Amino acid sequence: MTPPPPIGLLAELTHRCPLRCPYCSNPLALAAADGELTTADWARVFRQAAELGVLQLHLSGGEPAARRDLVELVSHAAGAGLYTNLITSGMMLDAGRLAALAEAGLDHVQLSVQDSEPGSADRIAGFPGGHARKLAFAGLVTQAGLPFTLNAVVHRQNLDHLGEIVALALQLGAKRLEVAHVQYYGWALLNRDHLLPTRDQLDRATVMVEQARSEHRGVLSIDYVVPDYYATEPKACMGGWGRQVMVVNPTGKVLPCHAAESLPGMVFESVLDRDLASIWTSSEAFEMYRGTGWMRGPCQGCVNAERDWGGCRCQAFALTGDATATDPACRLSRDHSLLDVAVQRAAAPAGDFIYRERARVKTSVL
Ligand code: SF4
Ligand code: SF4
Repeated sequence: MTPPPPIGLLAELTHRCPLRCPYCSNPLALAAADGELTTADWARVFRQAAELGVLQLHLSGGEPAARRDLVELVSHAAGAGLYTNLITSGMMLDAGRLAALAEAGLDHVQLSVQDSEPGSADRIAGFPGGHARKLAFAGLVTQAGLPFTLNAVVHRQNLDHLGEIVALALQLGAKRLEVAHVQYYGWALLNRDHLLPTRDQLDRATVMVEQARSEHRGVLSIDYVVPDYYATEPKACMGGWGRQVMVVNPTGKVLPCHAAESLPGMVFESVLDRDLASIWTSSEAFEMYRGTGWMRGPCQGCVNAERDWGGCRCQAFALTGDATATDPACRLSRDHSLLDVAVQRAAAPAGDFIYRERARVKTSVL
């Protein structure tokens, strides 16, 4: 059966980024600049995405503004009729370039912050002075009249500052705050002992979010979900494998999620060899875990199978070594206790962060 079209396309334009976040969702092996798709390649991808039925385009990275052709890319995407959301660290855009992006048809900006307090934020990002630049950039976004969302990835080292992060979102004029718990694969898995929050922290944060939601209703909407390591039910990762979203990485490989390359033995096809629609509908990688046919017990036949789609394949592999296993976030998984083991281990971390490798990229405005 032909799957319905994806709603969203996440375009990882580059892996280059001035920051070095220890939970970065980019793979451990970062793509080099000279292997990135060209402007014409991306323009073709955007047209094919719109023809396929994609509505929302998320321009991501790395830092998407490290691409000198970002304005041109936004123009191609808007011309194809896509809603464009720029996911940025805010480190490489000045007022002129932001105005050019708005003029080219940019619809929305999503700015990430590492913490509410500059010293901690800069330490987590591995970049002195970065937080101040982000705040300045947020002011430019507001002045440009672009709607924006503040995104905060939370973990043990900043979760106690969630109240201040909410205050920062209000101060900056964000209409939405996305509080995203770290997902533990790739760089984050390397740093898990430093990042996993404690149960007490999590409980306080959950209460705090509920209070903030009610206090700021109509002014700021707050997205927040319980992290997998304290969950009893898994999340439908990316809305289910090959169901709602596709990812194109900087070199043109098409993935069901940004971490899928962590799964061994899988072959992901490229937009340089095949059009997006046929990769979505019939490539081996997208078919592999689509639907419920691949499931084994206890997922096979479970009443939740078409709600959570068995959870996250990358997390299942990262924790059990078997990508076909039930996501250990599920209480029915025979591996559920691995999450408790990880939480206990994280209580006494050794050493410091392993920072994401610094990509060689100029941090001045391009
Ligand atoms: S290093 Fe940080 S800002 Fe850069 S892409 Fe990774 S998570 Fe985003
Ligand atoms: S057994 Fe599988 S389908 Fe059922 S709730 Fe757990 S992960 Fe979801």
